[in-house]
Amino acid sequence: MEHPDDTETNNETETKPDADTDETTYHSQLGIGKSAFEGLEPHFEHRNYEGLEYRHVPDYRRGVERGTVLIDGKVVRGFPKVPRTLVLKTGIPTQFDRNERIAVEEKLNGYNVRIAQLGGEQLAFTRSGMVCPFTTRLLRRLVDLADLFEAHPQAMVCGEMIGPENPYTAHEYPGVDSIAFRAFDWRDRESGDPLPVQERRERYEAFGVPQTPLFEIVDVDNAAASVQEIIRELDAENREGVILKSLDGNTLLKYTTSASTNSDLAYAFSLPFDYGQAFMFRRLLREGFQTVEWDEDDEDARERAHEVGESILCSMREAIQTVEDGDTLGERHTVRASDETIDVLFEHLRGQGLNIDIEDDYHEDGDRVVTFCKRTPSSNDTIRNYLDGHIVSE
Ligand code: ATP
Ligand code: MG
Repeated sequence: MEHPDDTETNNETETKPDADTDETTYHSQLGIGKSAFEGLEPHFEHRNYEGLEYRHVPDYRRGVERGTVLIDGKVVRGFPKVPRTLVLKTGIPTQFDRNERIAVEEKLNGYNVRIAQLGGEQLAFTRSGMVCPFTTRLLRRLVDLADLFEAHPQAMVCGEMIGPENPYTAHEYPGVDSIAFRAFDWRDRESGDPLPVQERRERYEAFGVPQTPLFEIVDVDNAAASVQEIIRELDAENREGVILKSLDGNTLLKYTTSASTNSDLAYAFSLPFDYGQAFMFRRLLREGFQTVEWDEDDEDARERAHEVGESILCSMREAIQTVEDGDTLGERHTVRASDETIDVLFEHLRGQGLNIDIEDDYHEDGDRVVTFCKRTPSSNDTIRNYLDGHIVSE
């Protein structure tokens, strides 16, 4: 069990003189019993960020959100899993109260980040609860959160890192050349309770923090029809989808475009043995239910089928040809940041056991711009085997 740095413990926690007391308060901060906390302990991953010991819950567990962090005697709540509906017309009234009004916000396609201020420092946590040294550093130049944390030290700023120069999930957005932050939630760091949607949006506006677009606030009864229209527009622009939220911020529901499903499928089948079959199947189901809910005629359904088929087969074909030609498959990303930020990123990625090949590396306007490839051994090896005549018993 790790101890927070002594000085920091003294500064932050008068009521918690030693680490044993931290353990007792952790369970109450998490709002669970002592024995539930003890049951959770084997599932904590232990890590160290620049000398600061912390623990996090990397997987889904009962009683606590994935990505929950215990750090320096404090809790940083995980971001909740967002449920999905396959059918708008029935899913929306199932998830929300009859008379509720719901906010329809854009679901941006990037990577989830939570920012909390601990011991005077703003730290950026990934979905699974690791401190991301890259995001932590880069955020400072993207958004100034000093006044926000000054006024609200318990805040957990939740948002998406988007844009093409992104080490995890790259996606193009108009007006975003490299990487950008968009806030989509504001929660209490310890309890995870959200601010109501409108209050959250006003606060971010006041602090000058860029936010995810809000399309509308709509009655549950009218939501399916208007969300469908929004989805058609997002689809045409190759954007990911929407997240519906009750105005108190507590209930969430996601729904995504066919464009996003197709691009996921194309990506997954470009590395067919590195993405689980369940990942692919779930996406195929989305297309099945969408074509029926949208009442498509034979011609439209056939066009949808054609697109799905192309996403799957064309990217798989390219992958097999790549290996056949003796080249290597992998996940390619480009990042742009200071030398130091790039160095800590690669240290962080390699520290997670990833094999990284640097493919391009130069300086531009004082930044280092690196294109790298995360190796994906399963797809390379398995495709190679099949090409060499490996016999499948099925
Ligand atoms: P998980 O739900 O475990 O994060 P997932 O891959 O299923 O994994 P997504 O399908 O991307 O997650 O949907 C949920 C995620 O959508 C959120 O965790 C968040 O990062 C992202 N997101 C983008 N825009 C918004 C928004 N406006 N409101 C809430 N979440 C958003
Ligand atoms: Mg996402």
